[in-house]
Amino acid sequence: MAPIFVQQEAPPSPPPDTATVTVHALSAGHLTLPEGHFVYPSSATARNTVPSLSFLIQHDNPSTGNPTRIVFDLGLRRDVNRYSEPIRRHAATREPLATQPDVVKSLAKGGLTPDDIDYVIYSHVHWDHIGEPRDFTHSTFVVGHGATDLLHGTSTALRGGHSFFEPDLLPPDRTIELSDPKRAQKEPGPHEPGMLDLNQPWTSLGHLPRTMDVFQDGSLYIVDAPGHLPGHVNLLATTELGQQIYLAGDACHDRRIMTGEREIGEWRDAEGQVCCIHADRREAEETIERIRRLEGQGVEVIFAHDVEWEGNELNQGRFWGV
Ligand SMILES: [Zn+2]
Repeated sequence: MAPIFVQQEAPPSPPPDTATVTVHALSAGHLTLPEGHFVYPSSATARNTVPSLSFLIQHDNPSTGNPTRIVFDLGLRRDVNRYSEPIRRHAATREPLATQPDVVKSLAKGGLTPDDIDYVIYSHVHWDHIGEPRDFTHSTFVVGHGATDLLHGTSTALRGGHSFFEPDLLPPDRTIELSDPKRAQKEPGPHEPGMLDLNQPWTSLGHLPRTMDVFQDGSLYIVDAPGHLPGHVNLLATTELGQQIYLAGDACHDRRIMTGEREIGEWRDAEGQVCCIHADRREAEETIERIRRLEGQGVEVIFAHDVEWEGNELNQGRFWGV
């Protein structure tokens, strides 16, 4: 397959005097992925050890100067034995697996504890992103639409070795599930500075059809990124350097899919059923196409399992506390 060349076009960027956030990577464990489950064509035996990255995003409240702190994904749970039994069995197929440093240790490198984190936003609720939410006893958890049904096992959307969920994962009184992006959108309500505005309607931004401007100042958008798992969301951040960073979660697991060198992989389970890492492959491909366009516009794209980004010397200073 020929590489895909993306035409350069103007980014969907806000004006240059826009508000900004800071974005730091947090090391949150490593796991090993069988290549054949992710890309096609692939080697039958190749396995790649990749990170499960988390990110710290900080935004200064313009009226008080106090930061609002968000962690995007919590990576791997430091004590794998605290996962539910089906997840433990699946995790055993992802060895070598390392859970240190976990997200709490990585926050501590820069002097923060879970108590300093106002919001935990999950890209999605797969086991390798949920970490240990019990550490975050004050934070508000934000999940995409459909995540709660998945956690409670009431979704008929999918099954598969990697798709086991824990019904008691999140505290109901501190969890916000975003509205359905595909439903009619409600009217915007009032917004309190320093808080995330999660009650707003989904609206388009450039070629991205469904986004939420969570601080109402253009610094950080939640982006609906369907396909991988119900409720899968990404973040688009504008940083002080006028740079835009797109945190793509599990929209894609291998850069060669972005470049067109590989396609999304499929495999057969023990019953002979065709499986795909994405719950809805067609939607996942459309999401990847939108991300490819962002990259063509000069936006930096980082995947949760972005082993190339993690390994790049130039990014070492972009981890929190380094
Ligand atoms: Zn993942």
